[in-house]
Amino acid sequence: MPRYTDADGRIDIKSLTLEELEAELQGLGSERFRALQIYKWLWQRHARSFDGMTNVAKSVRATLAERFFIPFLEPVGVLRSTDGTTKFLWKTHDGWQIESVLIPDEDRLTLCVSSQVGCAMACSFCLTGDLGLKRHLRPSEIANQPLQIRAGLAEDTRITNVVMMGMGEPLHNYDNLVPALRTYLAEDGLGFSHRKITVSTVGLVPAMQKLADALPVNLAVSLNATTEEQRRIVMPITRKYSMATLLETCRTLPIPHHKRITFEYVMMAGFNDSLEDAARLVKLMRGIKSKVNLIPYNENPDRDIKRPSDERVKAFQHHLVTRGVQCSVRTTRGIDISAACGQLGKADAASVEAFFGAMTQGATATS
Ligand code: SAH
Repeated sequence: MPRYTDADGRIDIKSLTLEELEAELQGLGSERFRALQIYKWLWQRHARSFDGMTNVAKSVRATLAERFFIPFLEPVGVLRSTDGTTKFLWKTHDGWQIESVLIPDEDRLTLCVSSQVGCAMACSFCLTGDLGLKRHLRPSEIANQPLQIRAGLAEDTRITNVVMMGMGEPLHNYDNLVPALRTYLAEDGLGFSHRKITVSTVGLVPAMQKLADALPVNLAVSLNATTEEQRRIVMPITRKYSMATLLETCRTLPIPHHKRITFEYVMMAGFNDSLEDAARLVKLMRGIKSKVNLIPYNENPDRDIKRPSDERVKAFQHHLVTRGVQCSVRTTRGIDISAACGQLGKADAASVEAFFGAMTQGATATS
């Protein structure tokens, strides 16, 4: 298992799954139930220090503090959109900035989580790709995003859904993503249902297969094109895993019967928004338990790409739906705070507001 330590050689306790924590504590000669007790303190009771774990014996707390540290992300900004979307900016212990976006929508409150600092996939239309990959996020950094946001929400407000659609390619960081997701799913951890978690990928075929075997979460694939040639232009990963290979994988993945793979399709005017594209897409979806999510391109000054008109998007959707392909259109959210799809990583500094309160002070505490 990967181990992350601080300058004093103490282990990042939140990067451990419950099973890993049990193994660590057994090695220290501690009783088995201790691990669960401590895990709950970390993920359900927002423990900031071992000293605060009042039902753990003092001597054990001292040992824990010598051996482990409790990491937090440092909140550096909260930006609120006029549409209710909120973007959280965080600083990692080594000074990188990452972002999470909270999106309220009727009966849902969806959190969009980052999995890497930057991204290596270099999709031509996506601004996060401009950064390149700086580093993978640790399991604790992936799981601290919902934990720390939760702590600042009102008592009756719950994050209902989680999408791994923030900065980064989650499956490129598979080894850290999976332990983090185990903590998302653990009843004594963050306690999310697998039905409410979606991992989005450019189509890293081997990791898609591994994930399907490891965890029952939902899968989303960013397709964004209807021919190999077109997809190679915007998504360089197509050179490694062709669209045909990707779709064949989707056809044969062991998807539970109540689940479908979501295909995200960023619509770019004059590039992939024609009715010929729609017709090809219908064919590509044959034999796959799928639904298509159209994302009209979010324009930005750094790209000469245009969003198609609403009529064009509607016509495209209509073509799919009338041919039996389930298809929705993603509403653009948080555009005024650069929180929309493909805009992450371009944040300006913002002031931290009352949202975090005590979280801010404790954010850098490590023991
Ligand atoms: N790397 C993963 C996770 C990121 S999800 C993936 O690609 O699936 C981010 C989604 O936003 C992707 O579907 C991507 O295609 C889309 N996107 C990127 N830039 C966009 C833009 N400017 N407008 C609309 N969608 C965009």
